[in-house]
Amino acid sequence: MKTTLEEIRTEIVNDNPLLKKGLIIAGPCSAESEDQLIKTAIELAQLGKTDVLRAGIWKPRTNPGGFEGVGTKGLSWLLNAKRITNLKTAVEVATSKHVEDALSFDVDVLWVGARTTVNPFSVQQISDALKGTDQTVLIKNPVNPDIKLWIGAIERLQKSGIKKIGLIHRGFSSYGNTEYRNTPMWQIPIEMKRLFPELPMICDPSHICGNTHGLLAVSQKSVNLDYDGLIIETHYAPEIALTDKGQQITPQELSDLLDKLIIKKSRSDEETFLKPLENLREQINDLDEELISLISNRMKIAKEIGTIKKKSNITVLQSSRYNEILERLNKKGEKLGLSEQFIRSYMEAIHIESIRTQNIIGQ
Ligand code: PEP
Ligand code: MN
Repeated sequence: MKTTLEEIRTEIVNDNPLLKKGLIIAGPCSAESEDQLIKTAIELAQLGKTDVLRAGIWKPRTNPGGFEGVGTKGLSWLLNAKRITNLKTAVEVATSKHVEDALSFDVDVLWVGARTTVNPFSVQQISDALKGTDQTVLIKNPVNPDIKLWIGAIERLQKSGIKKIGLIHRGFSSYGNTEYRNTPMWQIPIEMKRLFPELPMICDPSHICGNTHGLLAVSQKSVNLDYDGLIIETHYAPEIALTDKGQQITPQELSDLLDKLIIKKSRSDEETFLKPLENLREQINDLDEELISLISNRMKIAKEIGTIKKKSNITVLQSSRYNEILERLNKKGEKLGLSEQFIRSYMEAIHIESIRTQNIIGQ
């Protein structure tokens, strides 16, 4: 039976109401001004679908010189937004000072960013600063697909006595993938859900997609995989956002997106049986997508080689080179349980396409 997200939002999965099923966290990537934050918060609150207002106060930027956040003063804006709208609040913390400041401004949810989860020193520092508190902490996956780092962060926080822990899946960095800003690699959060079934899993389609057009499909996929909530970057005027401009949506667009999600209320026996199959198929789909983008990278390099061959007047087909590749891959394939026959036909298909693109250049 299908129902709307709204109808299952009240389903408590944990005695912490912040971690209820269908949790929606929304708000700007960064707090930019008090006006921007409060305007966004009021619009979100009026639409009535958001539980927690997010805003980055300290922003970890890939390149120096970018907007690095407004710092601690943003916390008082967040507190004002909370007083006006009644929304709970969430900020990213990366140091013990961030934790202390956030707690002194009554922030309800702290999240550990992807660039922090990778660093056990930082996670330990945050865990130490949280000792003795009853804080809710959401841990984003590390930027790299290292499941052990994600698990390590959970364990460090648990050792500090933190009980209200949730996970955020925001995708993983990869080289040369153009479809996503951060490849979802769904098999990793699926494995985390298997290892920690009691921890809510929240999807962050904004940082997975890096654009606005992919948000609905990624959100729907997370709902199909029985995630517990969504964190989506929302700005009253995304076109003037100082960070992550291309992926933020307006509160109204968020509301429309949530209305479009199809949620199944409870799983029938048949569906429960199908779930492992669904998860495995998900992994196959991911791997196929990865293979296609790797093959595309390979073709790009083959093209460059084609240009060099043309300039140096070398023939496109170099049999000795092809034989050398085949021999090497056969050895590797044997170790990995792939038959020689398979390696041969697979490589033949790749090689024919490589020669075809190089011939086009050569014309
Ligand atoms: C963010 O949520 O704005 C953020 C910096 O995300 P991430 O840690 O996933 O890059
Ligand atoms: Mn962001």
